[in-house]
Amino acid sequence: MTVTGASALRRMADFDLTEPQRQVRAAVREFAEREILPTVEQHERDGVYPREIIGRLAPLGFLAPMIPESYGGSFSDVLTYGIVCEELARVDWVVASAVSVANSLVGTSILKFGTSEQKQRWLPLLATGEILASACLTEPAGGTDLASMKTRATRIDGGWELSGSKVFISHAAEAGVFLVAATMDPNLGHRGVTMFLVDPSVDGIKVSPLPMRTLQRDNVAEVHFDDVRVDDKALLGEVGGGFPILGTALDTGRFSVAARCVGQAQRALDLTLPYAMDRRAFGQPIGGFQMVQQKIADMICRTEAARALVYRLGRMKDAGVERCSMEASMAKLLASEAATQNALDAIQVHGGYGFSSEYEVGRLLLEAKTLEIGEGTSELHRKLIAEFGLGIR
Ligand SMILES: Cc1cc2nc3c(=O)[nH]c(=O)nc-3n(C[C@H](O)[C@H](O)[C@H](O)COP(=O)(O)OP(=O)(O)OC[C@H]3O[C@@H](n4cnc5c(N)ncnc54)[C@H](O)[C@@H]3O)c2cc1C
Repeated sequence: MTVTGASALRRMADFDLTEPQRQVRAAVREFAEREILPTVEQHERDGVYPREIIGRLAPLGFLAPMIPESYGGSFSDVLTYGIVCEELARVDWVVASAVSVANSLVGTSILKFGTSEQKQRWLPLLATGEILASACLTEPAGGTDLASMKTRATRIDGGWELSGSKVFISHAAEAGVFLVAATMDPNLGHRGVTMFLVDPSVDGIKVSPLPMRTLQRDNVAEVHFDDVRVDDKALLGEVGGGFPILGTALDTGRFSVAARCVGQAQRALDLTLPYAMDRRAFGQPIGGFQMVQQKIADMICRTEAARALVYRLGRMKDAGVERCSMEASMAKLLASEAATQNALDAIQVHGGYGFSSEYEVGRLLLEAKTLEIGEGTSELHRKLIAEFGLGIR
């Protein structure tokens, strides 16, 4: 049988997946293209958060692939979860991010470190989509250096008082649970960091929109904690035990972000291939010019290299390797830079139309670039990878 260009690309992406994993990819892609894609540009223009669409993921099993069935989730292997994130991100950053935050950052932290009461309280709500989640980590004075956070957790009778501010918090206005990192004493560094599960409706929490150049439909926000009182049941894990929780959460978080980057890189490629064959210059399709072909070749190679790293990371996690921090940094670094570079190349091949609001590729660029910043900047990941390699971490 002749393998055409398109089927060769599909064969590579699906080559070593199991049949159920291929079926999940096909089902998520079909849903995403039919139900989500037609809404994205309008949501972005109007600043409308896609809450209703996210709710529709639950009955299909796409909302909670990391939450066990006993809590109402659709528990899958880690690689399948990555494929869900990849395919959702291929059409919408925000929907994919909602799944990734709820499963990786918040759901996994509750599963691994929560009491049985916390699991019973929060996981079924997250799994059914009744509530969404936000992770409140970054502060106005810095996100990379988390050990220097300023948000204070002060012991009071029967619980804790939280005071401080967090910035760039995705989904905050829609969330029904916040995973909050705070310090008992900034002088303690990472040993002072403690995690809490907080109901956003309690007194003293204010969510204010943070004007952004991109992702208007995400409603990225600042979250202020003004002497917020929570009881002991809000404490996640040990007092001062926040860093190991963050380590586990970000380890899985970086896997899902990397998978989302593969989806975005793939989308830029999928939009560019037909454009290059349709658009004509000097009497021929621009795809016939070697300099355009060079970009397309690089886009294909980047996407597949990133996908290979991400899928291998998923398989390592499925094989039970507990912490894969170096591999997570490698996958996140390579995939996020691939997504940005593919968006740049896609714009170049689209010429002036790359900036037209009629075409997706311009929007993809800033959205991809955010993924080089969130859950660890490229600089941080290069530092971590080098330190692992040098044996000083
Ligand atoms: C769209 C979007 C959504 C986000 N969503 C969330 C969210 O839901 N929850 C949340 O908590 N945060 C969120 N963030 C915040 C994100 O995690 C932080 O922006 C990120 O961690 C970087 O922190 P910072 O912006 O404070 O930059 P800084 O930490 O101030 O860093 C600034 C620059 O200095 C560099 N730098 C810092 N330290 C070093 C070093 N040691 N070596 C070399 N270079 C260094 C950085 O790489 C960066 O280039 C989001 C951000 C964006 C853009």
